[in-house]
Amino acid sequence: MPMNLWFAKAAVLLSSIVMVAIRAPHGQRSRGVKVAKSRKGPLETVLLTLAVLAFFVPFIWIATPVLAFADYPLRPVPFVAGILCFVLGLWLFDRSHAHLGTNWSITLEVREKHQLVTRGLYRHVRHPMYLALLLYSAGQALVLPNWVAGPSYGVAFALLFVFRVGPEERMMLEEFGHDYEAYMARTKRLVPGVW
Ligand code: SAH
Repeated sequence: MPMNLWFAKAAVLLSSIVMVAIRAPHGQRSRGVKVAKSRKGPLETVLLTLAVLAFFVPFIWIATPVLAFADYPLRPVPFVAGILCFVLGLWLFDRSHAHLGTNWSITLEVREKHQLVTRGLYRHVRHPMYLALLLYSAGQALVLPNWVAGPSYGVAFALLFVFRVGPEERMMLEEFGHDYEAYMARTKRLVPGVW
């Protein structure tokens, strides 16, 4: 195997481990916080399952030759750009979890004693965690030189994002009324000042 494929495999593996390590304590804690309202419909269930499955496709590429037909040569510039996306994405992922605290859910849910968070990263954009996951997806597509395993998570997460962001904001509007309306008026979804 060419040397640079080892770099790609190490980068993909390490970033996945860091992502799971950041999420794990929050996933654990959220199990102890009662769900007050759930908006998890069939579409959300399907798309969330797809995203979770897609997260594992890179491991198939790392551990088996079944996706080798879609390999292409790894170039240094996309590799370095991908590493930068990973670093920024994982940092945003960690910080947004820290700021959301017990208000975090993996899906469309309002928790008991849910509080609207508008501080930290949430002061600048409404969906920093989704921005983090989009950057992480870009990192994976750039670092992983395979046409199937590289973009797999990005495609699945982009679909989840497109169908979730509207219903999530409607749920938050229902729950927090004027406070969320005012918050929406002064923030953008993903990129400050842009969108
Ligand atoms: N969309 C946000 C949060 C992702 S986690 C982000 O990308 O950073 C999804 C859950 O977080 C939603 O079900 C909702 O219950 C909760 N949530 C979203 N925005 C919130 C906010 N500003 N304050 C508190 N909880 C929020």
